[in-house]
Amino acid sequence: MPTLHALCCGRLRFDRSLFFPGEAPGTEMTVPVPSFLVVHPRGKLLFDTGVDCLAADDPQARLGTRLAGLFRMAGGADELLPNQLAAMGLLPDDITHVVNSHLHFDHCGCNALFPRAKFLLQRAELDAARAPRSHAHDPSWNHPLDYRALDGEHDVFGDGSVILLPTPGHTPGHQSMSVRLSSDRTFVMTADACYTQAHLDREILPTSLWDTGQMIASMDALRKLGERSDTELVFGHDAQQWARMPQGTATLT
Ligand SMILES: [Zn+2]
Ligand SMILES: [Zn+2]
Repeated sequence: MPTLHALCCGRLRFDRSLFFPGEAPGTEMTVPVPSFLVVHPRGKLLFDTGVDCLAADDPQARLGTRLAGLFRMAGGADELLPNQLAAMGLLPDDITHVVNSHLHFDHCGCNALFPRAKFLLQRAELDAARAPRSHAHDPSWNHPLDYRALDGEHDVFGDGSVILLPTPGHTPGHQSMSVRLSSDRTFVMTADACYTQAHLDREILPTSLWDTGQMIASMDALRKLGERSDTELVFGHDAQQWARMPQGTATLT
């Protein structure tokens, strides 16, 4: 059975109206950018790789004018993904699998650090990323890496402990990840299929939306999973939930 660790890959600051479309612009919010490490007897898996490590120093060059204008990076060097892994006693080459929930810049920015890993993405996400006028952030993901295209739900290690769940809507091939621990508790990393608990409770759809119907269906499916007594949803960018979550070498239990 796997162990599960939450790693903080810095934080993002931006206008609240980007997350809460009904609110008037002018108020900033700060959210964590998480990555999750699954240590399984058959491999070490990262779910999402955060923002490009060099973006804090030169956002214009690494993210481009549009994203650099919307988002500001916060966080010390200890919050860079390679340093978070080093604190766990791991090198990037120890990572055997990378799962990208989707290809926005804050979920795949450090992909290039893992040339030995298999990258597991939904085919719809890869196809859309490669199409003209893509939603994806090309400099973050488009490197010669071992991208594998999945068609739907996927049992990563073949024992039912780590399952990738398609949750499209925010982007065409967004996926979430369910991890079942030896305690029989299950954590479901929603990523941007649900930014925060408030989005789930108040059915708030993200401003960045590819398909409204699919987004609502994905949120409903996640809500049903979260209603199980043995299952906890881990939201994509929820500062309040993050503040009470065990992080780094501490395991989620
Ligand atoms: Zn996103
Ligand atoms: Zn995000």
